[in-house]
Amino acid sequence: MSHQTQLFIAGVWRDGSDRRTLDVVNPATDDVIGTVACAAIGDLDDALNAAAAGFKVWRAVSALDRYKILRRAGELLRERVDALASILTTEQGKPLPESRVEILLSADVLDWAAEEGRRAYGRIIPGRSNHILQSAVREPVGPVAAFTPWNFPMSQVVRKIAPALGAGCSVIVKAAEDTPASAAELVRALADAGIPAGVLNLVFGDPAEISNYLIPHPVIRKISFTGSVPVGKKLAALAGEHMKRATMELGGHAPAIVFDDADLEEATALLTGSKFRNAGQVCVSPTRFLVQESVYDKFVERFAANANAIKVGNGLEAGTGMGPLVNHRRLQAVEDLIADAAQKGGTIRAGGSRLGNKGSFLEPTVLTEVTTSMRIMNEEPFGPIALIAPFRHLDDAVEEANRLPFGLAAYAFSRSARTVAALGAQVETGMLTFNHLGLALPEVPFGGVKDSGYGLEGGTEAMDAYLATKFLTHAP
Ligand code: NAD
Repeated sequence: MSHQTQLFIAGVWRDGSDRRTLDVVNPATDDVIGTVACAAIGDLDDALNAAAAGFKVWRAVSALDRYKILRRAGELLRERVDALASILTTEQGKPLPESRVEILLSADVLDWAAEEGRRAYGRIIPGRSNHILQSAVREPVGPVAAFTPWNFPMSQVVRKIAPALGAGCSVIVKAAEDTPASAAELVRALADAGIPAGVLNLVFGDPAEISNYLIPHPVIRKISFTGSVPVGKKLAALAGEHMKRATMELGGHAPAIVFDDADLEEATALLTGSKFRNAGQVCVSPTRFLVQESVYDKFVERFAANANAIKVGNGLEAGTGMGPLVNHRRLQAVEDLIADAAQKGGTIRAGGSRLGNKGSFLEPTVLTEVTTSMRIMNEEPFGPIALIAPFRHLDDAVEEANRLPFGLAAYAFSRSARTVAALGAQVETGMLTFNHLGLALPEVPFGGVKDSGYGLEGGTEAMDAYLATKFLTHAP
């Protein structure tokens, strides 16, 4: 299976004008499995012209007709799920069942945005005299530039383009060069469903060159980025300099707080599954496991046993529980964090090493005796590593949870209503889930506070990001 992924500009699949391409590698085998076309500046100009013209067309399409196209695209993803799952796994590494879930959830996101687009209501505001009519109407903000990463190569894209399209905006999306075919298949589904030419454009290339060109460009009215905090801060600064609205979905370092009154077996099982999903390359991945002293030893033992039981391998093979990391650069970065922790006194309770002599596989890893001097306790590991530390009182757990500048997701397990209420009030986070894992559904808001960014994806808030409110007032 080889994919030569092209750019999609003004309704046409094409190579970059200077024919530059990058290789795409299967992280499970290190084999080159295709190429991705790179956009030159002239191609970006074409995409900008297309998005400007596409916006005029698309904003004039009724919300009902936009809905029909997005819903049809969702149906196409469902029909194609088997073929697309194998493409996604081959370029990104995650096990096939996880790829299927990602694609089916992407279809659900299209449905949600289609429906919400029909409910972009404004309001009538009582006037100060009877003959004055005042209204607030909601309009699509304009052409959007979206930048998406490789960890969920389809759903990261759909979480931006679906609400943008549902709201009536046109889009240029720069998807991840490591995983281009999944993004292209999503765009293909929308094109096959009838999106008019120019409304949706897909580019790849040098990320910094593209963002530096698109963000300041007068055609672009709104930026949305998902990725690391340092890159997010750069793009947010550039957006600010040019007065562009921005949504920033950045990194996290999620605390998972387990109290001694929790159902320990269930907490351990759920948290292990969540930690090693997508080999930990998830911005909401639980990372700092804070466990109350009296159940700490039991938790560590169970968690390490669960980690050791995960079958690591090629995501295409049945029974694989965890695939490789996305590339060797990521593998090296995670290994460096483990080495730093081990050197500073951390104890490796499971895993800790590379697996095999090809592909970027790392064992599911569990570290204890972790201290705040370790890099891994401060930097987002973005890999299959659990850091487990004991705590005595709720206040200590809250202090550690809030210690870092991140504030994306947090998890807690307790049967006490008092504990649940206290954490709900005190943990500095965009999302907090108690006694289950309930994040990132299309209908619920998703986003962070502090360095984890601003703006929300999902929920009704997903549409707000792409709508501007205009106030109109009439006298007869
Ligand atoms: P990175 O910060 O270099 O890149 C992350 C993503 O941003 C990539 O898709 C990349 O193409 C893009 N990017 C980088 N520089 C850019 C620029 N100047 N303009 C536009 N896009 C740009 O990191 P990486 O090595 O690919 O991934 C590692 C780190 O990225 C992780 O530690 C994690 O913090 C973060 N990350 C976060 C998410 C998330 O879901 N929030 C997803 C992927 C990566």
